[in-house]
Amino acid sequence: MEQFLEMYKDLGVSRQVYEYGEKTLKSLEARFANIDKIAEYNQGKVIGAMQKNRISAACFAGTTGYGYDDMGRDNLERVYADVFHTEAALVRPQITCGTHALTVALSANLLPGDELLSPVGLPYDTLQEVIGIRESPCSLKEYGVSYRQVDLLPDDTFDYDGIRAAMNEKTKLVTIQRSKGYATRPTFSVKQIGALIAFVKSIKPDVLVMVDNCYGEFVETIEPSDVGADMVVGSLIKNPGGGLAPIGGYICGTKKCVDRCAYRLTAPGLGQEVGANLGLMTSLYQGFFLAPTVVAGAEKGAIFAANLYEPLGFRCVPNATESRHDIIQAVELGSEKAMIAFCAGIQGAAPVDAFATPLPWDMPGYNDKVIMAAGAFIQGSSIELSADGPIRPPYAVYFQGGLTWCHAKLGILKSLQEMVNAGLVAL
Ligand SMILES: *Cc1c(COP(=O)(O)O)cnc(C)c1O
Repeated sequence: MEQFLEMYKDLGVSRQVYEYGEKTLKSLEARFANIDKIAEYNQGKVIGAMQKNRISAACFAGTTGYGYDDMGRDNLERVYADVFHTEAALVRPQITCGTHALTVALSANLLPGDELLSPVGLPYDTLQEVIGIRESPCSLKEYGVSYRQVDLLPDDTFDYDGIRAAMNEKTKLVTIQRSKGYATRPTFSVKQIGALIAFVKSIKPDVLVMVDNCYGEFVETIEPSDVGADMVVGSLIKNPGGGLAPIGGYICGTKKCVDRCAYRLTAPGLGQEVGANLGLMTSLYQGFFLAPTVVAGAEKGAIFAANLYEPLGFRCVPNATESRHDIIQAVELGSEKAMIAFCAGIQGAAPVDAFATPLPWDMPGYNDKVIMAAGAFIQGSSIELSADGPIRPPYAVYFQGGLTWCHAKLGILKSLQEMVNAGLVAL
């Protein structure tokens, strides 16, 4: 005990904050055990897929140039397809981020005259320019793809009547965002997403459904592709990269959809045949292998944060007790000053760049100023411990990640310490 108090004191955490944290943790043992069970299940899924596809050291060899017959790349895509239970997968370092992966999936499967429907309200900030909700050169809108949106009902459930009314002969693709993004609505469970997919397909059987799976991978034992999604899409510098992937995105889905995505990403006629792996295969495989336990640690951090902050009077989404479907924790801090203090704590807990001070800044793709705290090995990686949020009411920080639970714990304790130091909370 004394040893721990000393260690935390050296890291800038007071006895008072540490003891408040330990008291909070006592109540979380059963939930943490359940998270470990989910990780165990998902670890088995990943190992099984790697064994089935006979992954060997030869898969880790780097390729350059066109990348024809790239065995490591092709097998990695088979591993992803098997874990997500899909016919095909496109997993590439040439997909630069989650937004890019989503853009490829949308623009490959929507043609001029088609309509895109979001039945879950406004999509993630960066998608708004992709779709053309905010004007941008090369948006889907500019290419003649129209967009409709049905907001959630006031109680955050799906507006089935509104969705039925919005679907028409042009509706080609329905996009469902699993995670809340920078909104304060709840994240949907895979089961809820399954019900929504069944509903839209009952109205229009041939409509395509894409799920933005960012931050959701491995939080449950099933994925949206297990409940009828034609494509699931995400970023490798979030959950499935396990913190080791230095870049990349994935699209898992039906062969028909994924083929089109490959033609869009590279070139018609070339598709998945080209795309050298540039020596990144070890990181992509090993990261995917570690991802289930990394996600478990991050989820524990999110639950710890909610249970630490909610009793102090801050609204948390999800709240302290509800079930989890992604690794994001929103904490509504009520002021810019509190966001800066919280982020200073996360930054101060990092193994890298701990000396930096995060401040609100204009960011490309975002409408409001954004504050971001991260001291990451992979720049911008949000599976690593990070906190960010747009400077607008309710002044929520979105906290996520942590490659290890112990690091997530330190970050959250330090965020609280900064809030205490700034006189924003009293324990
Ligand atoms: C992070 C995120 C994206 C975009 O991913 P980037 O890698 O930042 O481009 C899209 N949708 C959701 C829900 C996200 O959380």
